[in-house]
Amino acid sequence: MARKSRKIFETTSREIQKPIYNVGAYIRLSVFDKKQKGDSIETQQAIIDTFIAEHPDMELRETYIDNGLSGQSFERPAFQQMISDMECGKINCCAVKDLSRLGRNAIDTGYYIEKYFPSNNVRFVAVNDNYDSADGQSGGIMLSLKNMVNEAYALDIGRKIRATKQMNIQNGCFVGRFPPYGYLKDPKDNHKLIPDPDAASIVQKMFEMAANGIGVSAIAKWLNESGILPPKRYFHSKGLATEKEVNGQIHWNKAVIYALLKNRVYCGDMVQGKYKTHSYAQEKLPESEWVVTENTHDGIISRELFAEVQKLWEKSSEPKKSQYCDPKTENIFVRKIFCGHCGRTMHRTRTSKTQYNFKCSTQLMYDKSDCRLVSINENLLKEKLLETLRKQNLDFEKCEPVSNAENSVGSELRDVQTELDKNRGFFKGLYESLVNGDINDAEYKEMKSVYEMRISALAERKKQLRQATHDRIRQESECAKVSESMGALRHISDLTSDTVDRLIEKILVFEDKHIEVKFRFGEVAEYE
Ligand SMILES: [Zn+2]
Repeated sequence: MARKSRKIFETTSREIQKPIYNVGAYIRLSVFDKKQKGDSIETQQAIIDTFIAEHPDMELRETYIDNGLSGQSFERPAFQQMISDMECGKINCCAVKDLSRLGRNAIDTGYYIEKYFPSNNVRFVAVNDNYDSADGQSGGIMLSLKNMVNEAYALDIGRKIRATKQMNIQNGCFVGRFPPYGYLKDPKDNHKLIPDPDAASIVQKMFEMAANGIGVSAIAKWLNESGILPPKRYFHSKGLATEKEVNGQIHWNKAVIYALLKNRVYCGDMVQGKYKTHSYAQEKLPESEWVVTENTHDGIISRELFAEVQKLWEKSSEPKKSQYCDPKTENIFVRKIFCGHCGRTMHRTRTSKTQYNFKCSTQLMYDKSDCRLVSINENLLKEKLLETLRKQNLDFEKCEPVSNAENSVGSELRDVQTELDKNRGFFKGLYESLVNGDINDAEYKEMKSVYEMRISALAERKKQLRQATHDRIRQESECAKVSESMGALRHISDLTSDTVDRLIEKILVFEDKHIEVKFRFGEVAEYE
């Protein structure tokens, strides 16, 4: 009795050592795949079985089959069953014919391969993609998937950086690229501000002048005449800003001085979060939404002096607001009208109840000597513009899509797609051919690299052609819109913001009141 039980014990212990990996074979058949022979359940099973047979450390424990389900979602019953079997330790290896069986959503697929399986000590094998996590390197993983996973990580890192920045703002830590003029970033802590003695004395002088009723223009004049460098130039001279970051700033201008004299940072409070960044643009938030943290650093202006300046300005700006009781009309030239001499935007100002003028912003916000007295009455501008548009209308039949080019792109795209499908089919069939003994290892490797090269070249060409088609479609729809607006112009006597937006890219106004118009369809035509 005793001898027999020892014998059983010996065999059991030997068997425990042998199969390290309990394999779950995962098979997925989409509705689409049902029509394709190469991906049948039997084929997938056979490929996995062959692989397991070649690896003595693997043993098939369970086969999971999702039949007729999309790879986009991971809410598939057999897949979920496999995951729960992994979690209770029934299987510790997942084998699939290729990555697309696991899933077609690259980000989620990447999550399972790069995160979930490794952290659950599950070996993952995608036979036809030559991917085996036990190899310790992921060289065989499809590059595109890898890239998409990286992209997802990058997005995630971007989100984390923004979250950290937001947290710093909430905590009153300085997050800007440049400190406010008059301060330096503390070399010991980048998020802290310390007074910059040289510039701080200039700031103090500016506040004192403002408190004595000296206007912003006069302060600008004094600064420029004294040869004091404006903020970005100053940072450049200290080696803190690049020439590009100086962005053409030559003189002190009214806008910079005005913003400086309204900034509470000079009393020792941190004011940040003034802008919200969207994926496409930056938006300035209303003052009520800014994040203010009091007493975060040494002030260089007393709170009394700061309050005095603000009070003085409130008084002087009050009466202007109630000058006209009718609301302003819409500015239909917003972001379209620029000074022909300095290139800055033209500001719209109201000159009477119904009249508006556009003025070069250099006149209003910067040093007057930077530009000329460029201004134009809005009604005059509209008249000139309508006249120009009507003239354009006469020779506007050029914006015809070139249908020959379109056809050749379309037919090449179809050819490329056919070639791509064919080569992908060959590529998929290669491993099957190897398993069936139709080709040997060396042939397999050689053909595999040939197909990979062809596929990547074709895929690149397809991308280019798609872009070309995409550009063409966009041009055509632009053309159609322009054509529609042009047609409508024959009947209208006044411009609307919609018409301006559709037709005009940019208007330049010159001192002698002549205008230059850059049309949007002009630019479209340039692409031809
Ligand atoms: Zn100008």
